[in-house]
Amino acid sequence: MRLAVLKERREGETRVAATPETVKKLVGLGLTVAVETGAGAQASIPDQEFAAAGAEIAPNAGAAVSGANIVFAVQMPEATERTQIPRGALLVCIAGAYSDPGMLNQLAEAGVDVAAMELLPRITRAQSMDVLSSQANLAGYRAVIEAARAFDRGFPMMMTAAGTVPPARVFVIGAGVAGLQAIATARRLGGIVSATDVRPAAKEEIKSLGASFVGVEDEEMASAQTAGGYAREMSEAFRQKQAALMATTVGKNDVIICTALVMGRKAPTIVTKEMVAQMRPGSVIVDIAADAGGNCAATVPGESIVTENGVKVLGYKNWPARIPVASSSLYAKNLLTFLNTFWDKEAKSVKLLESDEIVQGVLLTRNGTIVHPQFIPSRAA
Ligand code: NAD
Repeated sequence: MRLAVLKERREGETRVAATPETVKKLVGLGLTVAVETGAGAQASIPDQEFAAAGAEIAPNAGAAVSGANIVFAVQMPEATERTQIPRGALLVCIAGAYSDPGMLNQLAEAGVDVAAMELLPRITRAQSMDVLSSQANLAGYRAVIEAARAFDRGFPMMMTAAGTVPPARVFVIGAGVAGLQAIATARRLGGIVSATDVRPAAKEEIKSLGASFVGVEDEEMASAQTAGGYAREMSEAFRQKQAALMATTVGKNDVIICTALVMGRKAPTIVTKEMVAQMRPGSVIVDIAADAGGNCAATVPGESIVTENGVKVLGYKNWPARIPVASSSLYAKNLLTFLNTFWDKEAKSVKLLESDEIVQGVLLTRNGTIVHPQFIPSRAA
């Protein structure tokens, strides 16, 4: 069996789907591993390190995927590379299934089976393959580090002979995996941290990290979490209550870290332009929800801007790609664990059991048809 690791080509993508460590383990399973030349360059992994781990270095994407049974990538490969993947191969990546559902027909027709890692069910057994968690964790950390860099005062309280520098007040919006890591990081840097979320469990999690909870606690909050562990899209009535609370909260803070997401939908707008206008010059907003449109109305997805009143809004997309050595290492391990879980040692091949909850969760296409319940054309909304 041959496994190909593609070089990422999408703008701003610096990660790679395998590391020398995971290549060694893949070879140990009995796989021939082909890594496209330069695949690890932006994550500080030269070709030689992949080769030393047992990989064959392919001169281009076509050579890498030629004869491949399994293809590993971070993001869905672009059409040019996608169409070179052989019929019958399994492609494992973050497929962008919601943002580009049209691409599924093409992959089904091409006979490529796609495992969309972003659709992995949030169950205990799947935790070690959960790419959203591993990547969000690092994004949350990086968001605070970049906020600290952009904030011209410093995070901790500093008492010096020349006077006292007050601590930064940091407000984290959304306390999922990224938000909780952002809270922990901002606390470690010495900030005074508060946070909000709509899921009831989040309140205790925020407090357990030493931050204070600021949020609307009404009857809707009790049912804000779906069975899958994600937040629901909240009602207009809730949004109004939240907006009133945010109007008195945002302006009191120096740094806002936005992480609120609703699976498969546009990110909720929580910080309005009026709220930004109340912030002091030099304040910083980091919007890691920018890929889904952002939580702040002033965010320009993909860019860093300064508002008229001097607030810096960092709206870069793809925050895990801003810390590529760590994010590649964790992503590569997630994919290795996924493959290991479904690896048939006798047959030395991957066996994705149709009855398995994880397989049902991630598999978009199989044997030439779209099989995921949320994307089967006749059933899709
Ligand atoms: P996410 O990235 O989908 O969203 C980030 C946060 O934004 C969530 O906490 C969400 O509640 C919050 N949010 C959404 N709308 C909001 C709004 N209008 N206002 C304020 N906050 C809002 O979430 P995530 O980080 O992927 O985590 C979702 C949940 O899944 C968490 O409870 C997490 O602990 C859990 N989880 C479980 C497992 C597992 O058991 N295997 C793995 C990972 C995450």
